[in-house]
Amino acid sequence: MRNYNFSAGPSMLPLPVLERVKHGLVDYDGNGISVMEMSHRSKAYQAINDQAEALLRELMDIPEQYDIIFVQGGASLQFEAVPLNIKRNGKADYVVTGNFSGKAYKEACKYGDMREAASSADKNFTYIPKLDKSMFRQDADYVHICYNNTIFGTRYDKIPDTGDIPLVADISSCILSQELDVSKFGVLYAGAQKNVGPAGMTIVIVRKDLQDTASDICPTMMKWSTQIKEKSLYNTPPCFSTYVAMEVFRWLKEIGGVKAIQKINEEKAELLYDFIDNSSFYANSVEKPFRSLMNVPFVSPTEELDKRFVEGAAKKGLLTLKGHRLVGGMRASIYNAMPVEGVKKLIEYMAEFEKANK
Ligand SMILES: *Cc1c(COP(=O)(O)O)cnc(C)c1O
Repeated sequence: MRNYNFSAGPSMLPLPVLERVKHGLVDYDGNGISVMEMSHRSKAYQAINDQAEALLRELMDIPEQYDIIFVQGGASLQFEAVPLNIKRNGKADYVVTGNFSGKAYKEACKYGDMREAASSADKNFTYIPKLDKSMFRQDADYVHICYNNTIFGTRYDKIPDTGDIPLVADISSCILSQELDVSKFGVLYAGAQKNVGPAGMTIVIVRKDLQDTASDICPTMMKWSTQIKEKSLYNTPPCFSTYVAMEVFRWLKEIGGVKAIQKINEEKAELLYDFIDNSSFYANSVEKPFRSLMNVPFVSPTEELDKRFVEGAAKKGLLTLKGHRLVGGMRASIYNAMPVEGVKKLIEYMAEFEKANK
């Protein structure tokens, strides 16, 4: 029996993808070996690499003036790669809306004149600050944001206008979950383990004008242009993660692409938020316009009840609902692979638990 896994990452993968991968595990496509055992220079793997890139480009409608690379080190390594790769004036502005954007800012501070242009720390990151062009330094090399805040359960309701300053966004926990106009960004990056595939592979999408701006001290391995030139095959890539990602992209395309999954994601989020809002037992403190489609934190009346809620849920096959230690309570991550049925099961359990403990 498959459980419903509400983990923030690594998270659920679509069952049809797991089944497909299972078939290829011993003998991939008649090669007599699995992808895990394959040379990354083989024709078979190069086809996987090419197809993953082409499918992602199609799904996200990524314009030609952007390159896509698959690298290692997680989204966290990009916190440093960003300031090291985009260095013109040596200064950049950060919007801090939670844990990961705070970490990105802290790392960047090692490499230049960084500034916190706005923050939502004053209300424990329960909203996205109002931004406009005038808040950023005109000679900043870029503005960095985190589009969906995995821990605090917020997301931008629109893409901020930074004028001519390139906008860089961490989209680890919302990539492919909703339509996004890539042309509004200079760089986008995301770790795979939320909405794309197993951990190990990180997607970076870089506009051409930001590919020759690296600092002299930028390590070769972290330089985007290194991997762009080599089509992500400069050194041994995380072949298996990229292969599963390719299968996830295929699956997403088959079910109608980002537009179709966005509708399903909106349906799931609406079901859950409506239930929470209509209950006097559960609460979510995020300001409504900024509520994440992907990560839904909530609390019951006491910490003791939160603990029992999480334990009881696990017994019913509703896994990993414990909230992040920074927020407490519960968190339901409802990424692309979480079916509507899983959210309905969760709500059923929430109603039962409320009735038994009111
Ligand atoms: C999970 C997450 C990260 C960290 O990703 P790693 O791949 O573990 O480095 C960074 N940013 C966001 C928004 C995340 O959700």
